[in-house]
Amino acid sequence: MKYIDEFRDGALARKLVADLEIEAERLSRRVTLMEVCGTHTMAIYRHGLKPLFPEKVRLVSGPGCPVCVTPAGYVDMAITLARTPGVIITTFGDMLKVPGSQTSLVKERGAGRDVRVVYSPMDAVETAKSSPDKEVVFLGVGFETTAPSVAAAILTAKREGVKNFTVLASHKVMPEPMEALTKGELKIDGYICPAHVSAIIGERGYRRLAEVYGVPCVITGFEPLDMLRGVIMLVRQIAEGRAVVENEYFRVVKPEGNVKAQAILADVFEKSNAVWRGLGPIPDSGLAISPRYESYDAMKKFKLSEPDVRENPACLCGEILKGLKEPLDCGLFATACTPENPVGACMVSSEGTCAAEFRYGERSRANA
Ligand code: SF4
Ligand code: SF4
Repeated sequence: MKYIDEFRDGALARKLVADLEIEAERLSRRVTLMEVCGTHTMAIYRHGLKPLFPEKVRLVSGPGCPVCVTPAGYVDMAITLARTPGVIITTFGDMLKVPGSQTSLVKERGAGRDVRVVYSPMDAVETAKSSPDKEVVFLGVGFETTAPSVAAAILTAKREGVKNFTVLASHKVMPEPMEALTKGELKIDGYICPAHVSAIIGERGYRRLAEVYGVPCVITGFEPLDMLRGVIMLVRQIAEGRAVVENEYFRVVKPEGNVKAQAILADVFEKSNAVWRGLGPIPDSGLAISPRYESYDAMKKFKLSEPDVRENPACLCGEILKGLKEPLDCGLFATACTPENPVGACMVSSEGTCAAEFRYGERSRANA
């Protein structure tokens, strides 16, 4: 298949749903599969896929949106910087509404702080070049997918001698939280692995999950037929008692990943412990700026440390990100918490689980 339409073909989808039913009949029990990527979550809701799955196949959403898992303490640090005279904050737009402990960047911008939305980290370097009397800080949030472009911006700033550009880094990597979830309360029988992240890290990153924990993994694309095929491949592995890493998205993801991007990540960043909103601290799950590039590290330049902030206890984001609860279980859903006025991070990002349920949930259930 070459064109997007072919990955949305209704007749093929019906055939795959029938194939999935046949595979699921071989299961001896109900299984729980997790899609860890926010883009998958959104696609599943948008295409109304969940109701098509057989009773024995349960799909839960995981922590695959970097905005959703960015802790309030990080937002508080960004706000401290936004309030520092002479500092311009540059960020992707999806960080603006994420609630910190007291306020958000969008509210700070309304109060007159210089918070600017950019479309790439390189735009932030350009802002620094055109504002030499200011300090320009880019909010580095994202998984292995986004981190290489941030690394490239740091390398450009170094090469061009830009001294007023720094990154407040909160980059995270995917395999470690998947491993932490595997050891958690929810028994996860298989993972739909993130597509964009896999394009960078390749298949290797998930091998421990399969080989050490016996959890099957399938890298899957975002089109409905990709996802149906990915679920069939997972169910087939479980039914046959196998646990390996398979790649449904081979038209984009190479087994070895993107070697160039891996090299730039290894140069500019180093693995660090990181706090995930909802999941807490996870060893080696973050990417901190390497000491070699510390003059581009906003934490060091502005002598910041991340405060430990308590989330709103009524918000169930933590449980949702672990796959233990669903948005409709939360008493604040669609009342106190909406995309316009989010209480928790899962409602902020367009790909957060609560936002997906808010936007597509009724349509998705109506298809059932
Ligand atoms: S909403 Fe933004 S940050 Fe979250 S997964 Fe999508 S692109 Fe990434
Ligand atoms: S509905 Fe809002 S408050 Fe409830 S879990 Fe989702 S994001 Fe948190």
